[in-house]
Amino acid sequence: MTTESRPINVLLVEDEESFVDALVIGLGREGFQVTVARDGSEALRLFDEKEPDLVLLDLMLPKVSGIDVCRAIRSRSSVPIIIVTAKGAEIDTVVGLEVGADDYVTKPYRLRELVARIRAVMRRGAGGGYGAASREDRRMPGAEERFREAGDVRVDLDTRRVFVRGDEVHLRRKEFELLALLVENARRVLTRDVLIDRVWGSDYIGDTKTLDVHVKRLRSRIEVDPSRPVLITTVRGVGYRFDPSEVAAQRP
Ligand code: CA
Repeated sequence: MTTESRPINVLLVEDEESFVDALVIGLGREGFQVTVARDGSEALRLFDEKEPDLVLLDLMLPKVSGIDVCRAIRSRSSVPIIIVTAKGAEIDTVVGLEVGADDYVTKPYRLRELVARIRAVMRRGAGGGYGAASREDRRMPGAEERFREAGDVRVDLDTRRVFVRGDEVHLRRKEFELLALLVENARRVLTRDVLIDRVWGSDYIGDTKTLDVHVKRLRSRIEVDPSRPVLITTVRGVGYRFDPSEVAAQRP
């Protein structure tokens, strides 16, 4: 349920006509007002002109790349940005999040999934995206932030207790910190560097396998089948992602 009294204005930056047509119709049906930019420079011009509430940004664009568009928009505005990447282009996704996108979807995607992401990003409010996620000021509005919750996993930051599918699980200190970080950034790929930096500190010198060992232990405590992890997935060559929706999708 949305309480907006006026439609959410979406700037759709996309050069593939089939996507443009489908999204203009689909998002329009969901009550969004859509402005279309078909290349990077048009995107920046229309952004200034229309002052959209949200930008849906394809990364593969003519003229100015999606990454540069993202960077340029972020330099002047905290408007929510969702990037769209081709399947398997995880590096682009990571770069996109690092230059300030709030979330991403991978082509091909379902309209329903996209709309859910848009609403989630709008709920979180404008601001910062991944860059801000590494700052302490990225907080859900109005929350004391005593809990982090995603899917079946609930993390209590005050008491440092973790509940999975209703049952408490006991974690060591670094396991707890790692899980809290992953849950806080649910659905985002976190690079190995970021995870090590945030959990062990930027001055950490040691075996980077430490991270994998901790992930493995975490999986043994929170996954239904740790040999086939669905909550914490490996993004090969990049890092890890926590995705509670994978569990829901597997349910009968
Ligand atoms: Ca494209």
